[in-house]
Formats: sequence, C-alpha cells, structure tokens
Amino acid sequence: GYHRVLEENRKLYNQVQDLKGSIRVYCRVRPFLPGQSSFSSTIGNMEDDTIAISTASRHGKSLKSFTFNKVFGPSASQEEVFSDMQPLIRSVLDGFNVCIFAYGQTGSGKTHTMSGPRDLTEKSQGVNYRALEIRSSSQKGLSVPDASLVPVSSTLDVIDVMKVGHKNRAVGSTALNDRSSRSHSCLTVHVQGRDLTSGAVLRGCMHLVDLAGSERVDKSEVTGDRLKEAQHINRSLSALGDVIASLAHKNPHVPYRNSKLTQLLQDSLGGQAKTLMFVHISPEADAVGETISTLKFAERVATVELGAARVNNDTSDVKELKEQVATLKAALARKE
Ligand code: ADP
Ligand code: MG
Repeated sequence: GYHRVLEENRKLYNQVQDLKGSIRVYCRVRPFLPGQSSFSSTIGNMEDDTIAISTASRHGKSLKSFTFNKVFGPSASQEEVFSDMQPLIRSVLDGFNVCIFAYGQTGSGKTHTMSGPRDLTEKSQGVNYRALEIRSSSQKGLSVPDASLVPVSSTLDVIDVMKVGHKNRAVGSTALNDRSSRSHSCLTVHVQGRDLTSGAVLRGCMHLVDLAGSERVDKSEVTGDRLKEAQHINRSLSALGDVIASLAHKNPHVPYRNSKLTQLLQDSLGGQAKTLMFVHISPEADAVGETISTLKFAERVATVELGAARVNNDTSDVKELKEQVATLKAALARKE
C-alpha cells in the first residue's frame, strides 16, 4: 500500500517535471558560520521561493529579488534538502539521465550540499552519499580521462569510491578561503535495471558535479601557477556560461567543445536529461557582488529549455529507429 503510493507519487512527479522541460534551479543560502555576526546579512525575505537581496550604495538601499524553483533558507536541514531532491535522484532508476550541479562562490556551501561537512555523521551527509540504492551498475564509456570507472554493487561501495575521489581532488588555499577547492569534482553513477512489467532494460546515469568556486580571479589574489590554474578553472566556468547563454537564446550553434566541463555536461545541458542547477550563496555583506552575479547567472540558466527528458530503454530506441525507417521510406517513395 504505502510503497505503491510512493511509487505513484514518483511517477507523477517525473511526469510533471518532464512537461516543464527546462533546467530546474534551486538556491540555498548558507547560514552565518559560528563566530560571524548575522548583522551584516544581505538576504531579505525568502518567501514563495523568492529571494530578496538588499544592496546599499550612495544612492541608498535597494532590493533585488530572484525567483527559483526552490529556495532553501539558512535553517534548512540536509534532510529537507535531500528529501526534496529524492524523486529526481530516484528517477535514474527509471532509466532517466540526471545531472545535478552545484554552483557558487567559494565558501557558499556547495560541498556541504553535495557531500556534507568533513566530519560526516549520518545526519549531515550530502546528496552524494545518499545517492541511491544501487541495484546494479554497468561498465559504460565515460568521457573523462583519468576518471576511473569502478563497478559498484551497493551504496557503501559508492561512498568508498567517493572518498578516494575526494582525496584525489586538488584542494589548495587562496586568500578567500583556506579550504577553497580549486577543482571541479564529478561523480557519475551508471545504473542498469529491468522494468518489471515490460521487461525492457533501463539504463540511467547520474552526474553529481561540485563545481569550483565561481568568484572572479582577481579577488582571491592568487599568483603564479595558482593564478594559471584559477584562470583555467574560470575559463571552464565561463565556457559553461557561454553554453547556457546560447541555449537560452536558442542559438543554432552551442559551443560545447570549448571546455572539458561543457563536453562532459553536453548531454545533460542540451539533451534529454533531467538537470538541476543548485546555486549556493553566502549571506555576508562583503559577498554581495558575487551573490548577485551568481543569482543573475542562475536566472539565465532557468530560462534554458530542454527537450522533454526521456527514458533510455531498448524499446524507445527501437521505436525511434522504426520511425526513422518509415520517414526514409516515405522520402524514397516521393522521389520515385
Ligand atoms: P564551498 O564548497 O562552496 O566552497 P563549503 O561547502 O566548503 O563551501 O562551505 C563552507 C563552510 O560553511 C564549511 O565550513 C561548511 O561546513 C559551512 N556550511 C556551508 N553550508 C552550510 C549549511 N547549510 N549549514 C551549516 N554549515 C554550512
Ligand atoms: Mg567546496
């Protein structure tokens, strides 16, 4: 009974989301950290998934507001965030491709959402660790050099693989944050299952991407190799921005090939995946410039329209091929 209701709900949610056909955008506001004064907050009200940012200049105070599919305030718990994303994450089991990427300046809480804090307890785990009940996984081509593809058979295996990934990830210190992550991190989970009613093989894949900090380079006062690296990271983020802009303007040419990041995300951004961009912002007054540019970027992402998400199963491939054959035959018949 209960299980069935859940299942029905999930199907309904997927249908509704498919109809929307655009990238979903969520926003999470980090709370003030211990020792910080909340007096300097730039965040106004956060009702109805709208977030108001107050800025002060010599012309006086002004309020800018932004609306997203979902806004989580500073008091939202990991459970709350995860339970909202669970149907999306579970749809990978129904054969959909899912991509969740975390965007925001360094220190805004991206890694907290995606992986949880360093000292993981069960309650504070981020999205990555609750990824899924893995039924089975297939070895399929991954387009990232140096990425290892490890067959997993349980959730615990995924956590182990992720721990290795975290160790390998370059983390260096910049003036902005001594735990600043200068690299993108991407976890891809492939799932293969069988539809119990139709017997069709379902293949789903999920990218969980924790992007490097989106702040402008000059701010973090890096030099030498660090600067080169920072510029490189910024280039891939600006390539992402260019791709989003072309998709938003429905340009015929979308410059996916300008960076490894956009190549990797190509199927998720322009294709038939279910994509969620999770933007993160810091509440402090001195972050307001980055906060506004993050929210403007997010606003632009929200206008990108995708094709309806599609299940990867053998029957839909066959159906598509049959349709193609029919079209070609008709074209041939017209010529004759
Ligand atoms: P980023 O990955 O964007 O650079 P982090 O996830 O490392 O940022 O977060 C920066 C700091 O803020 C960390 O100490 C983290 O534990 C803390 N933090 C971030 N988001 C939250 C939150 N929602 N609740 C409590 N602490 C948070
Ligand atoms: Mg991080």
